[in-house]
Amino acid sequence: MSSPVISAPVRTRFDALSFDEKLDRLAEVAVKIGLGLREGQEMLLTAPMEALPLVRRITEHAYKAGALLVTTFYGDDPSVLARYKYAGDASFDYAPEWLQTAIATAFRGGAARMAIAGANPALLAGQDPAKIARANVAASKASKPAMELITRHEINWTIVACATPEWAKLVFPDEAADAAVSKLWEAIFKASRIDGDDPVAQWKEHGATLKRRVDLLNAKRFHSLHFRSQDGTTDLTVGLADEHLWAGGGTTAGNGVYCQPNIPTEECFTTPHKDRVDGVVRASKPLSHQGSLIENISVRFESGKIVEAHATAGEDVLNRLIATDEGARRLGEVALVPHSSPISESGILFWNTLFDENAASHIALGQAYSTCLIGGEKMGEEELAKLGANSSLIHVDWMIGSAAIDVDGVHADGAREPLMRQGEWV
Ligand code: ZN
Ligand code: ZN
Repeated sequence: MSSPVISAPVRTRFDALSFDEKLDRLAEVAVKIGLGLREGQEMLLTAPMEALPLVRRITEHAYKAGALLVTTFYGDDPSVLARYKYAGDASFDYAPEWLQTAIATAFRGGAARMAIAGANPALLAGQDPAKIARANVAASKASKPAMELITRHEINWTIVACATPEWAKLVFPDEAADAAVSKLWEAIFKASRIDGDDPVAQWKEHGATLKRRVDLLNAKRFHSLHFRSQDGTTDLTVGLADEHLWAGGGTTAGNGVYCQPNIPTEECFTTPHKDRVDGVVRASKPLSHQGSLIENISVRFESGKIVEAHATAGEDVLNRLIATDEGARRLGEVALVPHSSPISESGILFWNTLFDENAASHIALGQAYSTCLIGGEKMGEEELAKLGANSSLIHVDWMIGSAAIDVDGVHADGAREPLMRQGEWV
């Protein structure tokens, strides 16, 4: 991996800002655009310990916006590792359901949810994959009531990122520790679109652009999408769920608040049909999953289901992942992202889905977003399944887009329309 140049030689107004001022901009965008925090709303925040300066800025902006109360839960990588090193076997089938129940209660009571991403993506790389899988299943089960309110967009929520030393080392392995962290911060600022003169206004504009694309795709009512690479390693038909709805550029949550669930976001995404995915696909970027790295994924789908899965590294993790439950072998999301997105243009591999999924078109194994179906947020599980929406404890995005990928929209009668050529919107 080479280390690309991040900042342009010309000094723009953004470059003239101090680090604290840049951090403050990110915090402001997170609260006003990401969360759209409403006056009087409670806010739950999760963050790595290293994110404390950003947490404090976010907390300030939240109270200025009228937050009722901001409560932050901190995570700590070395403490997570200590569990893998010293905890007894029973620990790996346990998750604090009581805490997740309380969080779900807070959500139902009107709380908004913000997460700061920044944990070391390779934290668990050397740990026992069986223990990781068990801990993930236990955590997913315990958090289901709270997660459901998020995947159904009942509440306003968002994720932003914070540069941390271990993550920065992975992204910029050739740099000294401090330089790597500041390079990662600059990359996060740029990718998060806070480097203009008026980030809040520019985010509104960006959201509107994505919305126009989403409206266009929704008007087409495609039956499926066809992804094809020039070298033939990807030749995949992704059927779209009946009544599928494209989304992107923000969403109005069930509580009526307009939010941008991901900062950054560049994608237009929808719900595939869980039984109508066929062909082969090769990942265009490595996947970092819960502290493990999975490289060069290639899989074959038949009638919606993965029947063959390979990876040059982390194949074991991949196979355990898709064995989580019945829905883990099927798709819950398909997303189109132009190759020219700022994140893709940075040339940086972030080892973090929040960024990497916005650098390339992607698919996700597992749970579908019910909001990506017409009237879906009011449907029960059975009704959703009937339309083709997948259900699973997992939702894992992986990148399949690149400058070598063409995408066609295919209508029910077989008529095709080019959507992307060499990774760009037609
Ligand atoms: Zn996505
Ligand atoms: Zn996703």
